[in-house]
Formats: sequence, C-alpha cells, structure tokens
Amino acid sequence: MSTEKKLLAQNRLKEFIRDIPDFPKPGIIFKDITPLLQNALAFESTISLLANRFEGKEVDQIAGIESRGFIFAAALALQMKKGFVPVRKKGKLPWKTHRVSYQLEYGEDVLEIHQDAVWEGARILLIDDVLATGGTAQAVTGLIRKVGGIVSGVGVVIELAFLNGRDKLEGLETHSLIQY
Ligand code: AMP
Repeated sequence: MSTEKKLLAQNRLKEFIRDIPDFPKPGIIFKDITPLLQNALAFESTISLLANRFEGKEVDQIAGIESRGFIFAAALALQMKKGFVPVRKKGKLPWKTHRVSYQLEYGEDVLEIHQDAVWEGARILLIDDVLATGGTAQAVTGLIRKVGGIVSGVGVVIELAFLNGRDKLEGLETHSLIQY
C-alpha cells in the first residue's frame, strides 16, 4: 500500500481562509490564515503549490515579509532548498539596515532589511501572505534592489484582486493561490 499523501488541489485552499470583518479596523475584511496553518495537509499543499509556481525559475534566496509572510517564506525556502531573508518591521533587525516606509491597506508602516542580506545580483523570490493594494510588495521590491538583489518573482497565498495590487508590480512575475 502506498503511503504517499495526496495534497489538496488549489481550489480547496479557500475553505481554510476565515473572513474576520472589521479587523483590525472597521471596513477591513481580514483574511485569517490560521485555519490553513492548523491543517497539516492544507499547509503542506500551500507550500507545494507555491513551489510549483516558481519551478524552473532562477531563484537564489527567498525573502519573507514580517510577520505572516515569514511563515510561508521560511517553509518554502526549505522546500525549494534556498536561503531565507527576513524583511522586518522597524527596529527589529540587529545589524545595519536599509528601510522603507509605505502605505498599507490600513495605515502606514516601515520595513527594514539588513544591508548584507543578499549578495550582489542574487535572484530573490518575495513571499507574503496577502497581496492587497500592492504597496508592501512594491516597497520591499525597492528595498531588495537597494541591497543589490534582483526580484525574480512575487508569490502570495491570497490576492485581493479587486484592489489591483498587481498594477504596482509591473514586469514582475506574480502568483497567488487564492483570489477574491
Ligand atoms: P498591501 O500593501 O495593501 O498589499 O497589503 C499587504 C500586507 O498587508 C500583507 O503583508 C498582509 O499581511 C496585510 N494585509 C492587507 N490587507 C489584508 C487583509 N484584508 N487581510 C489580511 N492581511 C492583509
């Protein structure tokens, strides 16, 4: 008997996303990924599907955006056998950083990267949980370029397509697994 596990199809993943209305602010429908993380098969399927999207693409390192982006980026880095680069909130990284401030769907934020996080010309796959307005991914793309990396693609679990975040990522190969 085969012990091989059957992963979930991409169209099943939406079942594991919970809508939380008015979080963290009135009018925002927060896409809660914790049900997906709690389910081993759904989590593994998500990582595997993301890896498939970027198969054959030149990738040297995988950058994750704090906080929820870390969860997917680190797991994907293991699966794709690449290094992981953290892009963190202000004041968290201990070494010399570059920083960028940017608009969120709900407010403003600052993100930082270590100046020596990537090597010159490294091809970086950028991973986050949600692509909303695209402001975060766009800002981090700029940060990665500033430290010498080349963004080779953007991968997210969830895309709020009605916010047209892709428009801010012109020219970048962008993949999402779940769209709203
Ligand atoms: P944006 O810069 O507008 O594309 O927003 C993307 C970032 O904000 C991601 O890091 C998400 O974690 C977070 N985010 C924005 N909107 C939502 C939402 N509706 N539900 C969950 N996270 C969100």
